[in-house]
Amino acid sequence: MDIKANLEAVKNSFANPACQLIAVSKTKPLVDLQAAYAAGIRDFGENKVQEIQAKQPDMPTDTRWHMIGHLQSNKVKYIAHFVHLIHGVDSFKLLREIDKQGKKIDRAIPVLLQIHIAEEESKFGFEESELNQMLESADFAALSHVQIQGLMGMATFTENENQIRKEFRSLKNLFDSLKARNLPSFVQLNELSMGMSGDYRIAQEEGSTMVRIGSAIFGSRN
Ligand SMILES: *Cc1c(COP(=O)(O)O)cnc(C)c1O
Repeated sequence: MDIKANLEAVKNSFANPACQLIAVSKTKPLVDLQAAYAAGIRDFGENKVQEIQAKQPDMPTDTRWHMIGHLQSNKVKYIAHFVHLIHGVDSFKLLREIDKQGKKIDRAIPVLLQIHIAEEESKFGFEESELNQMLESADFAALSHVQIQGLMGMATFTENENQIRKEFRSLKNLFDSLKARNLPSFVQLNELSMGMSGDYRIAQEEGSTMVRIGSAIFGSRN
């Protein structure tokens, strides 16, 4: 596996060269992360708290750790002090716990709200109605130690490009409509995290600012 060559090929195929690349290194050994780091990557995505905790001490201090998977509330405390961005915030319960842990260490923790855009039931995320309910609540306005930087979503796993495009477009539309709304100052919508190995070009064409790419860089996972 030539990680450096894969990275170059991925970047050269970007539909938007300004889009940020998160190298998704879940399940991969440290040597693979080091190879990507040597090739210039600083942003790494992991989906398990234990794995992020295990790898973090062995990587250079300017590595930026993105928590991209489903995060359980009781595990927030283990990553609160160093995580660069939590992509998958999918409930108010989790957001409130992140806020609580941020308060303890006096850090406004950067997060993205995950929106359910796929057809599959299994993918996590807020439904639009749930999201609106949260955004309008007094409990939400009272948060003090989170920094909501944008939205994240995953399209349906399908060969049907039109469907994927439609789902990404709906997320972009939601993103734009939220930007136009009057929300608390800790909500600053700059990032739209959408696109993986199989669909990042479509996501970029539809307005993604951040793509999370694993297998196209590191090879398939077991
Ligand atoms: C694993 C994962 C990715 C990367 O998937 P690839 O298809 O390997 O690029 C992106 N986002 C999330 C949330 C993931 O869990």
